[in-house]
Amino acid sequence: MSALRVACVGSGFSGAVIARTLAERAGLEVDVFESEPYVGGHCHTERDERTGVMVHRHGPHIFNTQFDDVWSFVNRFTVFRDYVHKVRAITSRGVFGLPINLKTLNDFFGEELTAETAPGFLEAQGDKSIAEPRNFEEQALRMLGRDLYEAFFHGYTRKQWGVDPTELPASIFQRLPVRMSYDDNYHISRYTGIPEQGYTQLIASILDHPKIRLRLGQTFEASDAASYDRVFYSGPIDGWFGRRHGRLRYRTLRFEAIYQEGDYQGTSQVNFCQESVPWTRVTEHKHFAAWESHSETVAHKEFSSACGPDDTPYYPLRLVDDRSTLAQYVELADREGGNLTFVGRLGTYRYLNMDQVIKEALDTAEGFLAAPHDAARFSKDPL
Ligand SMILES: Cc1cc2nc3c(=O)[nH]c(=O)nc-3n(C[C@H](O)[C@H](O)[C@H](O)COP(=O)(O)OP(=O)(O)OC[C@H]3O[C@@H](n4cnc5c(N)ncnc54)[C@H](O)[C@@H]3O)c2cc1C
Repeated sequence: MSALRVACVGSGFSGAVIARTLAERAGLEVDVFESEPYVGGHCHTERDERTGVMVHRHGPHIFNTQFDDVWSFVNRFTVFRDYVHKVRAITSRGVFGLPINLKTLNDFFGEELTAETAPGFLEAQGDKSIAEPRNFEEQALRMLGRDLYEAFFHGYTRKQWGVDPTELPASIFQRLPVRMSYDDNYHISRYTGIPEQGYTQLIASILDHPKIRLRLGQTFEASDAASYDRVFYSGPIDGWFGRRHGRLRYRTLRFEAIYQEGDYQGTSQVNFCQESVPWTRVTEHKHFAAWESHSETVAHKEFSSACGPDDTPYYPLRLVDDRSTLAQYVELADREGGNLTFVGRLGTYRYLNMDQVIKEALDTAEGFLAAPHDAARFSKDPL
């Protein structure tokens, strides 16, 4: 087993967790390739040069999980500090808390609803003429009614996804929570926290093992695969096949920095729900690290747009067209994937939280150790 030559492409959580598990559990030597000059992938954090604040370069990342094994794993490599994520939303009718909860409903409608009376009130707001919601908008109108939908979701969704909410599946809206309590903690997972020294330090620590050789700033090319028995690839699946069946669509983000003395918005995340405001949200990074103290602050205004060939892919669109293109790449991977296992958010073209990525990486590595000559093609079925 220890003679097997293994490469992990990418130093995000996918590549790092697989490399560490194989090195630690089976003494395998693992080469980790990373095109960027730093580790961490999409979770990359670094100190802002001007303020010293730890900045989440690719947007705010809050670690939360229900999985005991994932929480134990990450806690081996860093100290997590307590953090409660509370999101504020600026709408045409004022500033409210998200996810929608009793406080939101009472503030928005000027009511004094209780856990007992709110469900009936909300039910009465819903559009009963929609029997079988066919899309995001219809689902939202049926569940919440027009006032809440238009204030919180219509404009925000159009800015975030670049499509009309009638083009998005109803299933997205079913996942957005409405709370019949005053709990405005955005994440209700068993474990939540922020790594004290940031995600890049956490991932560097996962990769810090004598059997792991890190090749920073080195892009893994198709011709490199022949030097290995197995390659765990966390880059984009369409990119690996030269985009032969076209480009899988993503949304990309652009960030505009705001600097000032003291505090900018008094909290870590404010969403801007009106379509007339071009940015979707503002993240003020120092509020993720209440244990630190900084005289200046840095906040990032976030703008969402279609991802072009030279942009960084953020959110997979996964609409009907994308799914049929993806199906072609999955077929290609099964036919021509050679010694590759496609893993993670780009390898399987799915939106995945960090804990899901870690869970899948742990399972993929264990699966490989159990049957190295019968390795899976994907960390999880992308379709
Ligand atoms: C805006 C935003 C906010 C998010 N917030 C949260 C949050 O609050 N909580 C949460 O749990 N999750 C969050 N996520 C999800 C989280 O970012 C992902 O789950 C995680 O980063 C995926 O890790 P990965 O290793 O699969 O992919 P990535 O982190 O994308 O890593 C892939 C790596 O592979 C490298 N690579 C690609 N191709 C090659 C090649 N050919 N050669 C060498 N290197 C290559 C890339 O440079 C990259 O470093 C958020 C995502 C986004 C977009």
